[in-house]
Amino acid sequence: MPEQMSGGCACGRIRYSASVAPDEAYLCHCRMCQRATGSVSIAFVNTRLDGLKWDHEPDWYDSSPIARRPYCRECGTSLGFAFKEGSDKMDLTVASFDDPSSFRPRHHFGAESIHRAWLNTEGLPEIRSGDYQKLVDKWVETTGAFPG
Ligand SMILES: [Zn+2]
Repeated sequence: MPEQMSGGCACGRIRYSASVAPDEAYLCHCRMCQRATGSVSIAFVNTRLDGLKWDHEPDWYDSSPIARRPYCRECGTSLGFAFKEGSDKMDLTVASFDDPSSFRPRHHFGAESIHRAWLNTEGLPEIRSGDYQKLVDKWVETTGAFPG
């Protein structure tokens, strides 16, 4: 069931509210998305354009003859993917939502360029940010507190 959820970029300049179905997200592995986001894959959820409201219009990167991508020019956050024409929907990046915890992937797209070593990482050592003392020390020295 679609629900109204909010999100935005890392610096907070760009904010949005969108009608999305959290259990219908997916991972895109295509090379264009890998390049555009700097990630081995990118988690997207589809939203109808008539259910999407930008509180501040994002910047747009003209990423191919058929598509463009919203982002923030100040902090660099990748916010989504949209066809230039012929669609009443677009994708938003799952991790740009304020609470991405309820999203569930339903399929893989761009399967021709899946980096399989990164698909199943269950079982690798898990290190919490707060357990990395160098990081904690840098935060405390600079701001007086660790945000994690
Ligand atoms: Zn920003």
